[in-house]
Amino acid sequence: MQPVVDQELCIGCGNCAEICPAVFEMREEKSFVIGPDKCSTCDCEAAMTGCPVSAIELR
Ligand code: SF4
Repeated sequence: MQPVVDQELCIGCGNCAEICPAVFEMREEKSFVIGPDKCSTCDCEAAMTGCPVSAIELR
């Protein structure tokens, strides 16, 4: 499973990057997936469920 961020929905809260810094990186108030294979280093599911606008999908 790899995380995908919907840029249209992301409000730049930074929550996902805080939970999974190896997977998500904040750039100009949007979250980008920089390490799609790094979910083993953190809890990508928590990042997904913790997103306030449900912008993260695990595919
Ligand atoms: S948790 Fe959701 S809204 Fe917040 S930065 Fe990440 S993708 Fe964007």
